[in-house]
Amino acid sequence: MALSNTEGSKGLLQSRELFEYVLETSVYPREPELLKEIRVITANHPQSLMSTSPDAGQLIALLQKLINAKSTIEIGVFTGYSLLLTALTIPQDGKITAIDMNKDTYEMGLPIIKKAGVEHKINFIQSQALSTLDELLKDDANRGSFDFAFVDADKVNYQKYHERLLQLVKVGGIIVYDNTLWLGTVAMPEEFVKEDLKPTRFYSIEFNKFLANDDRVQISQVPLGDGITICWRL
Ligand code: SAM
Ligand code: CA
Repeated sequence: MALSNTEGSKGLLQSRELFEYVLETSVYPREPELLKEIRVITANHPQSLMSTSPDAGQLIALLQKLINAKSTIEIGVFTGYSLLLTALTIPQDGKITAIDMNKDTYEMGLPIIKKAGVEHKINFIQSQALSTLDELLKDDANRGSFDFAFVDADKVNYQKYHERLLQLVKVGGIIVYDNTLWLGTVAMPEEFVKEDLKPTRFYSIEFNKFLANDDRVQISQVPLGDGITICWRL
């Protein structure tokens, strides 16, 4: 099956054929049916490119399984691809604190989340993420209590989210940041980058440099999807 332009432009692999091969061989056959449904309904949304790339999603679910993640934070829900992925991965009594300032897009995927029988694991908070994280930090019980966090929202705030997540996620827990290669623009000379991509290119370059020097986490930057950086809390 040929990739649509939207799907094709999500991958950073050097050829569309190789990206398609990975998806068709290893990702789509194991993608849960209802997750596929969210992907399909999201494809009609004008901003469908925002949805987490399924190959990156597969690694995220694997990481969650490896650390037995039970309590997670999700910053940037959109229509809920990564949210449903997490909800399907964590145990029945697991909990996801899911933050997005836009509830309409969350509600697009909600019927599918309900169909999957995992809505009880989700605490959706419609808010600016920064203020919600600050709220969480006011309660000492939340500090070091989360196993996993996935950050996929406004890149300008990634460093601020990082400082707060380091206090909320336990030692041995994992924080994953999405889009850290920003369509490959982080490695392009600025003059070749489209104007609308420049601000986030700048924040991403700064954030990548910052993480490379942050000894509170062990990191790996993986060129799946639009680039994800995995941080293991030391
Ligand atoms: N992870 C999602 C998925 O798999 O479909 C995609 C998230 S999308 C790239 C980014 C989302 O972040 C949008 O839904 C947007 O409303 C939300 N967002 C952007 N800035 C935000 C902020 N400051 N606080 C909370 N949500 C924000
Ligand atoms: Ca993303």
